[in-house]
Amino acid sequence: MLSLGGTITMTTGTSGGVVPALSAEQLLAAIPALADMDVAIDALDFRRLPGASLGFDDLTAVIGVIRDRLGHSVDGVVVVQGTDTIEETAYLLDLHHPGPEPVVVTGAMRNPTLAGADGPANVLAAVQTAASTAARGAGCLVVLADEIHAARRVRKTHSTAGSTFQSPNGGPLGYVVEGQPRLVNALPYRPVVPDPIDGRPQRVALVTICLGDDGVLLDGLADLVDGVVVAGFGVGHVPQHLVGKLQELVELVPVVLASRTGAGPVLADTYGFPGSERDLLARGFTGAGFLDPLKSRILLSALLAAGADRKAITSAFAVAGGHGDPATWPWTLATTERDGAAGA
Ligand code: ASP
Repeated sequence: MLSLGGTITMTTGTSGGVVPALSAEQLLAAIPALADMDVAIDALDFRRLPGASLGFDDLTAVIGVIRDRLGHSVDGVVVVQGTDTIEETAYLLDLHHPGPEPVVVTGAMRNPTLAGADGPANVLAAVQTAASTAARGAGCLVVLADEIHAARRVRKTHSTAGSTFQSPNGGPLGYVVEGQPRLVNALPYRPVVPDPIDGRPQRVALVTICLGDDGVLLDGLADLVDGVVVAGFGVGHVPQHLVGKLQELVELVPVVLASRTGAGPVLADTYGFPGSERDLLARGFTGAGFLDPLKSRILLSALLAAGADRKAITSAFAVAGGHGDPATWPWTLATTERDGAAGA
């Protein structure tokens, strides 16, 4: 179990308010039920940061540690962190985890100073999931409030509610019931991306289009970033007066079109007006399918870091977005099998 910090580790600091303070060992010590489990836990205090302050460098280091430990007879991994960025970090871990071992991310919505703090229950459920053969082959999972979500689908949907983690496209993969993970849905295939190439530029901007948007955030953007995700209206629409600026942008860097609604896919072939999804795709945009804007940004960043060209980016989004043939994923798909055989 690696701890990165987050509310789950926070207690009252010297200047008021809670701050990351508890170690991974202290989190485990607060869960007596772990003593009844036949599981040995190696606790690693990796970072003590709020979720908002984690970055790609931290995640690259986490991926390295996960690989190292999995190479040394570890059966599963739990990552504890701030809930604010779990929907992004978990997806990045998933994209870089080809093996069958469960990698489970958890956190807490109520800090340890509050009545009904959910941290201990969430860590226990995460350990139960990571230690279970039932969760093998499902990639990176997010476990909170006794629900098991696929990293590629889960979103934080409420700023304070304990039930904040939801998978709007497809629902949870399963539940933790009486201490056992019970998976009720299966992932048909699991895309993973090659490791980053050192020094490869991967800065991706996320631009959310708004009512009456004059496109000021698009001005000069291609000079600053290596790719852009546009979170458009509804099924993937932008105001018609932005089409010219977006056309210039997509000629310079890859631009992914996602929906700002937070659920459902962008379409490909329904609307025909300037600024519609058909118009933007014909101009060279890449459709995100079911991937929301935050997941799209993580995927585009990972693809750029791996040196993917535009053709590979388009194929990858088609498969990861759920509208392309899995056989067209540009690399080998990860295993969906518990024993580690290659998945289809
Ligand atoms: N702001 C906190 C964080 O992400 C929220 C949490 O952990 O639940 O660190």
